[in-house]
Amino acid sequence: MYTCGLTVNDRMHLGHARAYIVWDVLKRYLEYLGYRVIHVSNVTDISIDDKILRRIDESKESFQQHISRYTQSYLEDRLRLGIAPADVHPLATQHIQEMIELIEKLVEKGFAYETGDGVYFGISKFKGYGKLSGISKEELQAGSSGRVSRDEYNKEEVGDFALWKKSRAGEPYWHSPWGTGRPGWHIECSAMAMKYLGESFDIHCGGEEHIFPHHENEIAQSEAVTGKPFAKYWLHVRHLLLDGRKMSKSTGDFVSVREAIEQHDALSVRIFLLSTHYRKTLTLDQHAIQIASKHADELYALWAVVEHFLARGQTNPIEEENLLLAQMNESRSMFEQAMNRDLNAPLALSAILKLAKQTAGFLDKHGKITKRHASMTHNFLKSAGTVLLGDLIAYGFERERGKSLDGFVSLIIQHRNELRKQGRYDDADLIRSRLKDLGIVLQDLSDSTLWRQVRKRET
Ligand SMILES: [Zn+2]
Repeated sequence: MYTCGLTVNDRMHLGHARAYIVWDVLKRYLEYLGYRVIHVSNVTDISIDDKILRRIDESKESFQQHISRYTQSYLEDRLRLGIAPADVHPLATQHIQEMIELIEKLVEKGFAYETGDGVYFGISKFKGYGKLSGISKEELQAGSSGRVSRDEYNKEEVGDFALWKKSRAGEPYWHSPWGTGRPGWHIECSAMAMKYLGESFDIHCGGEEHIFPHHENEIAQSEAVTGKPFAKYWLHVRHLLLDGRKMSKSTGDFVSVREAIEQHDALSVRIFLLSTHYRKTLTLDQHAIQIASKHADELYALWAVVEHFLARGQTNPIEEENLLLAQMNESRSMFEQAMNRDLNAPLALSAILKLAKQTAGFLDKHGKITKRHASMTHNFLKSAGTVLLGDLIAYGFERERGKSLDGFVSLIIQHRNELRKQGRYDDADLIRSRLKDLGIVLQDLSDSTLWRQVRKRET
């Protein structure tokens, strides 16, 4: 599986995060089904334009320092969102030789030609051009004033695209048979995908903006060289919208992953980004994030209960519990059916949330669950829950609990339990509600009281 990674010249934003999380869910679900997945995701660390060169100049960093700072923060942001690292994260700058070799083959076979400012791929030489995006020659002509760059002036045909760009004074460069310069963006993905996955592989993922020209061009370059189909399946994630516009680095209309996690916590952000099917656009709005954050709380609550009863739960069955455990099997098959239907993550997630609700209801009534119940729920969260949410439930729960508060809150709980024993329920309730105002929620069980910290919400 090959996924187009970040161009590391700025922070990762929520639009990127949506796509990376969907691909992560796909990979984790394939593994859940028993497939072995080899995942390659490139890091585009060659992105040179006037804006970046100016920024580097202002920051007094070298090109290399600038790029490695953003690469580092990109890989960290992925982990924060519970996205599993790929097996290989190849850096474009480390694969210039592979790209040059591919371009040489394309020139040799007559698909590419050299001009004054670079080496271009001639799209009319490749019969299948347009088969992924459905773009026609006429549309290419019409688009020539916009997306198909105007500064590439020496091309034979409008849709031809640069494989190699000869350097101008002051730009970072690499050596090649065509003089100093840098590779085009498209050839990067062809070279690295084929190096690690072979000439043909199964799945290629990207965002909807990649369909044309990026992926169309990847297919053309790769298949022109090998004569074999490049990727079997293509998966494209629709945009995240902010005020009706695509979240985009180039326009500055974006919310970074860091800002979002700072404000809402990682699990809430991940749940929000999975709240709409990947083939539909998703709009960033506060209400939707509040709902996601409420769901995150329900999952933290479930995790707290599971941890507690896994260690201390009774083994004798509790009345009515069998019915609930049978429903858990239903939840699992609901999860699988949803995922099998074109990766319907929002529906799959609702199967897990339903389980959280059922267990919460059972707990309200009985004050406890059995060890078996805890262990079945634990397994479900570890398998299905991890497919959708990575390790964020367990990880976030630990962090949210705020370990330094532990002794302090335990003391208050102990005091409150004394009051309850004495029948002073009004006083005990007052303490519970005061704690809740402070963001600490208590859950009374038959033998003890659990607590957890929650974020303040408006709802
Ligand atoms: Zn790519």
